[in-house]
Amino acid sequence: MGKLKNHYLQNEDQSLAAIKLGELTDLSAQIEAWCNRCGHYRMMAPEHLINRLGPLISVPEIGVHMECESCNSKDLAARPVWLEPMPLMMMAAE
Ligand SMILES: [Zn+2]
Repeated sequence: MGKLKNHYLQNEDQSLAAIKLGELTDLSAQIEAWCNRCGHYRMMAPEHLINRLGPLISVPEIGVHMECESCNSKDLAARPVWLEPMPLMMMAAE
């Protein structure tokens, strides 16, 4: 059972990783990127990256076009993240 679950999780990861920048704006997702050299980490809004790279680029490709602001390395990795809903704000709205 555990093996099967891992298989599904891996498939999901791959489909998420190949998602296009333009699709993320509809899903209220963010891009997280980190430097493979110094470990510098950053979260970005997809809109910001679309202005520079266009909506048709896939998320892993973004890392190729970025530069680490900490060590200037171009060895960066990127992936989409979905932000958790904020329970406190939801309670305030009711
Ligand atoms: Zn770096």
